[in-house]
Amino acid sequence: MALRKILTFDDSALHKKCRPVTEFDAKLHTLLDDMTETLYEANGVGLAAPQIGILRRVVVVDAGDQVLELINPEILQTSGEQDGIEGCLSLPGEYGLVKRPNVVKVRAQDRNGEWYEVEGEELIARAFCHECDHLDGKVYTEVAYRMLSDDELEEMYGEDDET
Ligand code: ZN
Repeated sequence: MALRKILTFDDSALHKKCRPVTEFDAKLHTLLDDMTETLYEANGVGLAAPQIGILRRVVVVDAGDQVLELINPEILQTSGEQDGIEGCLSLPGEYGLVKRPNVVKVRAQDRNGEWYEVEGEELIARAFCHECDHLDGKVYTEVAYRMLSDDELEEMYGEDDET
């Protein structure tokens, strides 16, 4: 496994629609393993392939007790609403307020190409939406109804978290 570099907002890879995965081969498995390692190293909840410069529909989400590998994911069903703070590994130090559904059911393929369905609530539901948006070239700042100011961030996280 290897750590991959996480691209930031200005990189064009973050603003392009990704192509479906068609080959469920060793190359894909390496990509998934690398994405999981990179996600853990960065302490994130989710990571999408375009964030490391791969324009394919691949996402990993840390669901607490396991990492979900979502290939060619589609949101099947949503319900409820949550309103909260969202961030992105590609925009370090920035946070915004985003409304998302509270429960999200996703259909995706696993690393061997088998379709499965998974339902997530709260943070996981938010991650499903956020990561699926990445696959269409959309960053959460486009759906945030407000970004948090430096003052608000200072209040939440203390003054010297960047030192
Ligand atoms: Zn993100």
